[in-house]
Amino acid sequence: MDEVHLKRQLALKYPGLYFERSKNNAVVLRGVVYMNAKWIRLKLYLPHFPELCDFRLCVQEHLEYKRYSTENTQIQANWQLEDLLLHIIQLLPEEPMPDVYSSQQKSNIYTEILELHKPQDYRLQLNDRCTRIRFCGFAEHEAHYLELKLPSLQLIAHSLPDCIQLEDILENSSHSLTSILHLYLKLLEELRPFYESFSSIDELCDVLQPCPITTKHNTRVFPLKDRVYLKLTIADPFASYASMTVQIIGPTEEVAHLRHVLSEGLANWDIELDMHKNLLHIFDLCYFPMPAEMQLKKNEDEEQRCNICFDYRLDNGEVPLVSCDNSRCVLKCHAACLKEWFDTLVEGKTFLEVSFGLCPFCKAKLSTSFAVLLKN
Ligand SMILES: [Zn+2]
Ligand SMILES: [Zn+2]
Repeated sequence: MDEVHLKRQLALKYPGLYFERSKNNAVVLRGVVYMNAKWIRLKLYLPHFPELCDFRLCVQEHLEYKRYSTENTQIQANWQLEDLLLHIIQLLPEEPMPDVYSSQQKSNIYTEILELHKPQDYRLQLNDRCTRIRFCGFAEHEAHYLELKLPSLQLIAHSLPDCIQLEDILENSSHSLTSILHLYLKLLEELRPFYESFSSIDELCDVLQPCPITTKHNTRVFPLKDRVYLKLTIADPFASYASMTVQIIGPTEEVAHLRHVLSEGLANWDIELDMHKNLLHIFDLCYFPMPAEMQLKKNEDEEQRCNICFDYRLDNGEVPLVSCDNSRCVLKCHAACLKEWFDTLVEGKTFLEVSFGLCPFCKAKLSTSFAVLLKN
């Protein structure tokens, strides 16, 4: 039987098993098989395939791998790979059922883990000591992950927006690993509109903050025109449109004018169109400004640097977006740097409103709209 045919047959019969050739041409089969009403996770190493001689078989038993080879396993001389797989259960020693496993919650979790192994739907990873479990690579939600402590099921990390109190949601409704996973998958589905509303913005606007954009962020800052930026926030990811706010950041007069345009436009929001298209309509644009590719590097190096700290991007992802009302002034700085600058000045200047009073360079007025940049 040729290898392609064999692979296809194995895939049909044992969909959880992956067939691969190692560098030294040995055949390695790894994954899970379902036999006699139980899942077995195994790795089979066949150095002389299609011959079975010198095979090595590792089988997971309660999260440990036991090794089998020709020395401690009896196989028939005329067997082929299919026969070996078919008889695996008989080859393994009768598994004693230790008392601790009968009732304790701990063992239930580990049995659950074996049952939750679904490589088609997501990847499941355990650390060596089996004290952490991580689900990732969810079908259609590739960037998402969920990490829990074992056996306590305490939440360690997740990919949902930070503004969602996942810990509380899980605590109130989930008591097993399976139910936590199902709830997480349900939340991912419910958050689809949230992620979709940002997707064309991420693709078609020059998103300056956050950087890098992750599944946890619920804001986007991108340029509307020279010196003017939009900050989009979705406060409640489960109600994207209802909780969306658009803030305009830039020189005072521009902002005042554009706020007026925006409030009129919001009244005519078309729910059939996505957020990006609606915003284009509101500001009467064909597209939002994108950086000219060749210029980008140069700009970042020179023009766009902060006049206070002389860097472009700060560790928190912030870029210099603050300019002053005087269009001839060179001021371009990070909101955080400007705040710090004012904080070091004489007493009474430390309030935000006062801080954003006058340009430190030309003494022209500074728009208070920059204050929103300080709120994460
Ligand atoms: Zn700076
Ligand atoms: Zn100025």
